[in-house]
Amino acid sequence: ASNPKLQQIDASKLTITKTTTPKELIPHDQLIFGRNFSDHMLSLEWTSTHGWLAPNITPYQNLSLDPATCVLHYAFEAFEGMKAYKDKSGNVRLFRPDMNMARLNKSVARIALPTFDGPAFIELIKQFCQLDSRFIPSARGYSLYLRPNMIGTQRTLGVGPPGSALLYLIASPVGPYYPTGFKAISLEATTYAVRAWPGGVGASKLGANYAPCIVPQMQAAARGFQQNLWLFEEVVDGRKEEYVTEVGTMNLFACIKDKKTGQPELVTAPLDGTILEGVVRDSILSLARERLVPEGWKVSERRFHMREVCEAAEEGRLMEVFGSGTAAVVSPVRSIGYNGGLISCGLPEDKEAGPVTQRMKDWIEGIQYGEEEGHPWSWKI
Ligand code: PMP
Repeated sequence: ASNPKLQQIDASKLTITKTTTPKELIPHDQLIFGRNFSDHMLSLEWTSTHGWLAPNITPYQNLSLDPATCVLHYAFEAFEGMKAYKDKSGNVRLFRPDMNMARLNKSVARIALPTFDGPAFIELIKQFCQLDSRFIPSARGYSLYLRPNMIGTQRTLGVGPPGSALLYLIASPVGPYYPTGFKAISLEATTYAVRAWPGGVGASKLGANYAPCIVPQMQAAARGFQQNLWLFEEVVDGRKEEYVTEVGTMNLFACIKDKKTGQPELVTAPLDGTILEGVVRDSILSLARERLVPEGWKVSERRFHMREVCEAAEEGRLMEVFGSGTAAVVSPVRSIGYNGGLISCGLPEDKEAGPVTQRMKDWIEGIQYGEEEGHPWSWKI
């Protein structure tokens, strides 16, 4: 909304209706990502005449939508993925929630949904997490996955900016992505479909970006790969190059030794509008600049293509490849299927993760679980 009044959220007007039928907690080892939800949900309605109405926390429940609601026809939907953690002392913590709010505001603005006051929404998330904190297991690796979601709710088949919207948040308790330690994955580079393109919406977290990715993902899975790797092809100096962008729902990092100097470089694709601006990606870059650069590393956000990756692998200069995202923090990559061949990503056969991947996981989890004390990325609530 261009009118700042229409963005305001009054967190002090929150009403809380507690459930009368609290759910039984699922045993830790039976948690499946996104399958079970906590007792409550947080919702706020918006109208183009009144802006954001008073927020509500209610028992988790169905939505009731007219079949003509615009989200169901034209995909007016954007979402976020973030987590609440419980530290050793039982405090609930959020990890860089300001980044998720900024990204959601960018996403919704792109599809003519209303923007909102991020700090006020974080206040509401804190109250929600406190209320449902029993769903956050206190063991390291466990967390409560938070899913903020905004939809256009206007009842119309007319294609235009929604005159009403709903911002809501649901929460799903999740276990560690790798319950028995890291398990390196293999990727298949997708060469027949693209996820995003210059001028497109690849940098926005829109539901509409995800559905079209499932078929390539299924095809990669059918050939034995856990995820597909998205490339973007461009002709440079008369030569076709396939640039590495990101993985299914992760950003991608490679550790490559320089051909001439041997200097190790941590490289990831730049934020050029075609990849999601990952919170973990940003965290890894910051930590690498702070902690790897003094060890002699170079840290780069730059375009890199498959030919460079193949060449580094052939010459023994590809040290590590890993994905990054809220779900797994980091996910080590063993190999990449590409044009019928298999690129080996530098991981010894008896290892599941390289040293940079391991250290990034330890550093970031240390901050998320409040073990690295007083870090500004971990917001104690
Ligand atoms: N890329 C895509 C397409 C994603 O869906 C995600 C998950 N949000 C990421 C990257 C990683 O982002 P983040 O580090 O914020 O989880």
